[in-house]
Amino acid sequence: MRTALICGVSGQDGAYLAKLLLEKGYRVIGTSRDLFASSFLNLHRLSIFNDVELELMALTDFRSTLQTLQKTKPEEVYNLAGQSSVGQSFEQPVEAMESICVSTLNLLESIRSLGSEIRLFHASSSECFGDTGSAAASEETPFRPGSPYAVAKAAAHWAVVNYREAYGLFAANGILFNHESPLRSERFVTKKIVSAACRIKVNRQRKVQLGDLAIRRDWGWAPEYVDAMWRIMQQSTADDFVVATGSAYSLEDFVSEAFKQLDLNWRDHVELDNRLTRPSEIMCSWGNAAKARDKLAWKPNYKMPDVVRMMVETEYVISCASS
Ligand code: NDP
Repeated sequence: MRTALICGVSGQDGAYLAKLLLEKGYRVIGTSRDLFASSFLNLHRLSIFNDVELELMALTDFRSTLQTLQKTKPEEVYNLAGQSSVGQSFEQPVEAMESICVSTLNLLESIRSLGSEIRLFHASSSECFGDTGSAAASEETPFRPGSPYAVAKAAAHWAVVNYREAYGLFAANGILFNHESPLRSERFVTKKIVSAACRIKVNRQRKVQLGDLAIRRDWGWAPEYVDAMWRIMQQSTADDFVVATGSAYSLEDFVSEAFKQLDLNWRDHVELDNRLTRPSEIMCSWGNAAKARDKLAWKPNYKMPDVVRMMVETEYVISCASS
């Protein structure tokens, strides 16, 4: 039985990855900064809470990171932990750098100093590319990060490449474009839109305030993205892969689709609020996952309209139950 350590198991991707690895027969150990503060709601929602072993680990603390690896002896480590919101990173830039970059370095250094064969996956981000414009970003596209989150992700990404090249570690980056699911936290605009539309449908809310609706993103389905992570870790040599659907939609398209699923007209319920725009915003971000398709045999089945439909289906049941 292989052992996997998932850092950030309480998050959206951590929970879906834990489920996937359990189904594949792994022993799954998940870490959290605070085992008592987190409710692990996502693990409960996927009915796997009792199947995952939990460990307290502060990734920003080298001693804690090293000791956890020594104690759990994983073959595969998935680093999905850290501040994950671009908006929040403008408010807490040092936290972004520490929780993303220092944490990844602590994992790399721990694996190196243990001299072990542990494989490391790092959740790199499409945000590293900045605005992709009319050409979908591939692994060859230069980085131009436009937020503290993206700067931290870019630094962590290059640390992974550096430890791979300098020390021969199996360390790989998945350059993940946006991926959503019913487990997405409310701090993300996609979940905010879906939740608001469902509450409006059951008369628990009348309006929702949003920022710039012209931004374009490449939205995928989170369970498919964790499958890509696992495939990246099964390669004979470590490498970096863009994980994306290859289709960009505007936020207005997303909003329209969510309200349409509920037979509502979004224009009756959406208020634009300039205070919700960011200090610097990426207007267009989309990816070319041809390398993942060719080398990993990974192909996304769901694009934005499917993702919205599946999110609305779950959220509407929750809204009805609590109304
Ligand atoms: P979530 O926000 O759902 O989960 C991240 C987890 O990281 C949290 O549950 C938290 O667990 C842990 N964490 C550790 N340090 C911090 C910190 N300082 N602030 C906040 N959380 C922290 O993220 P996702 O599951 O959506 O994403 C997984 C990874 O993939 C992240 O690194 C994210 O940046 C990256 N990514 C995600 C994309 C997406 O669209 N979802 C796109 C591109 C990259 P605990 O509190 O238990 O310690």
